[in-house]
Amino acid sequence: EKCSKIMGIPVPKITMNDTVELISEVITEKKTELFHVVTLNPEITMSCQHDKQLRSIIDEAGHLTADGIGIVMVSHLKGNPLPERVTGCDLLVKLLETGNRNNWSFYLLGADEATSKKAAENINKTYPNVSVLGRHHGFYDHMEEARIVEEIEILSPDVLVVALGAPKAERWIYKYKDKLNVRVAIGVGGSLDIIAG
Ligand code: UDP
Repeated sequence: EKCSKIMGIPVPKITMNDTVELISEVITEKKTELFHVVTLNPEITMSCQHDKQLRSIIDEAGHLTADGIGIVMVSHLKGNPLPERVTGCDLLVKLLETGNRNNWSFYLLGADEATSKKAAENINKTYPNVSVLGRHHGFYDHMEEARIVEEIEILSPDVLVVALGAPKAERWIYKYKDKLNVRVAIGVGGSLDIIAG
């Protein structure tokens, strides 16, 4: 079987390395359609049970990874194990490493202003071949949101990192997926806080 069903959600049984490989292919292909990567945590999985809109966001995503250790444990208990946990933070670090070898560009959305700034500085220092084309903190008003979407559309990064918390990030990506001119978009929870140190 290619997937392990967790509370009705089919999660592909692929490792971190294969996940990075899959995302690399999407970036290399330069497809125009946005590839939405969802890192499934317990909150999203639970909310999907009653929230039809969130469920369709998950169903339409390009790829799902098992972010929560509980999700991996359940897959083992059901006898159809996921190979490993692939958290948003670990995946982001791997994408930065791979991006550093392949000159990928990123846009960072979310976290507070100081965290966003520090995260961008740390990425520039650690991954000199990665271009952080732009960034914006995650505490903006409605008017500002339209401007952010326009900025991302113009900058057209390979990877859009959305650190607004789950499932806010997933809803945000879904809402704007046809407008955002990016190859891959991924909700990463509190990862920018970790990268900012
Ligand atoms: N955040 C944000 N805007 C908001 C709410 C949250 O930018 O309106 C950021 C917050 O600063 C943090 C991240 O989103 O960097 C949420 O991290 P958390 O660990 O709460 O999310 P989870 O891992 O549960 O998805």
